Amino acid sequence: MLSEVDIKDVVIIGAGPAGIATAIQLKHYNIEPILLEQAEIGGLLRNANFLENYPGFPDGIGGLELVQLFKKHLKNFSIKVNFERVLELEYCDNLFLTKTNCRVIKSSVVVIATGTKPKKISVLPISDNIKDRIFYEIYPILGIKNKKIAIIGAGDVAFDYGLNLSQNNEVIILNRRKEAKCIPVLMERCMKSKNISYFHNVSVSEINNADSKTMLTLIHSDSQTVNKKWKSQNFLEDNQIYTDYVVIAIGREPCIDFLGSNLKKHLDNLLNTDKLYLVGDIKNEIYRQTAICVGDGIKAAMKIYRNIERERT
Ligand SMILES: Cc1cc2nc3c(=O)[nH]c(=O)nc-3n(C[C@H](O)[C@H](O)[C@H](O)COP(=O)(O)OP(=O)(O)OC[C@H]3O[C@@H](n4cnc5c(N)ncnc54)[C@H](O)[C@@H]3O)c2cc1C
Repeated sequence: MLSEVDIKDVVIIGAGPAGIATAIQLKHYNIEPILLEQAEIGGLLRNANFLENYPGFPDGIGGLELVQLFKKHLKNFSIKVNFERVLELEYCDNLFLTKTNCRVIKSSVVVIATGTKPKKISVLPISDNIKDRIFYEIYPILGIKNKKIAIIGAGDVAFDYGLNLSQNNEVIILNRRKEAKCIPVLMERCMKSKNISYFHNVSVSEINNADSKTMLTLIHSDSQTVNKKWKSQNFLEDNQIYTDYVVIAIGREPCIDFLGSNLKKHLDNLLNTDKLYLVGDIKNEIYRQTAICVGDGIKAAMKIYRNIERERT
């Protein structure tokens, strides 16, 4: 049953780094935002292995560790996170209507900090009975040990996932092209890891169930292996590998499918008149970094504060 609440000044959708930074800065100005999160606090950062580029942590910090600090910051500022999924955001009579799975919230300002969602492999047949062994983010399997995991992808995220999971598992990274698109330092570390194999020019044509394992059928345009440590089989002869899990990391796209039709019509105007804000990965194209998201969130909150103050005087 949906119920309406009072009009609020600001609704923030998403409690990843961008949404959290927005909320903290608003609270700093004594503005109480409604912060909505569909899953868990921290967003994509929960998947990050180790951040070495976030200022203030000269020795680096683990993604989950940084999330713990963000949670502490929210707690110290008494910012409540409302665990609700936004189903639709609409604009009507100069107000936003944020429809979640449990209520409709009216507000004069909305900050969208919903980040990105993984691109799915639509052309690759994956049988239904193994869908619980296929992951697009690694947070749910971070605790597993002594498993074999295939990672499909060749960007920073695929290699970062590889490093993270290889601490306790055997990992194979499959790149369908020759070139990898990750930063050199990640590649170097993966090459040094005794638990990571990396193959290029190898694409996956099918993923099936094989007893309790997941079988990947492979097509390889040449047999060049870059770094082969996969212990149990010479798969290039078989064209098949058997794994416990498959992680698909072939890119991400903005997570914004909840916009209502009227809002879409007025989108540019709302963004230009400082009523609606996009912050963080959702708008940062390839420049998806935590510090940028935090900066976006703080800047949006500062603008919101200035506008509220201007309207009051
Ligand atoms: C493997 C990996 C390694 C990384 N390493 C680094 C690094 O070393 N350094 C660095 O700076 N950055 C790194 N990043 C990037 C960093 O994690 C992201 O830039 C950052 O998390 C983006 O923050 P965000 O708040 O914009 O979005 P997200 O973190 O994606 O958060 C968005 C939040 O919105 C929520 N949401 C989405 N839709 C809805 C809805 N309809 N209703 C309610 N809530 C919703 C989501 O559940 C999520 O919690 C890494 C990322 C990955 C995946």
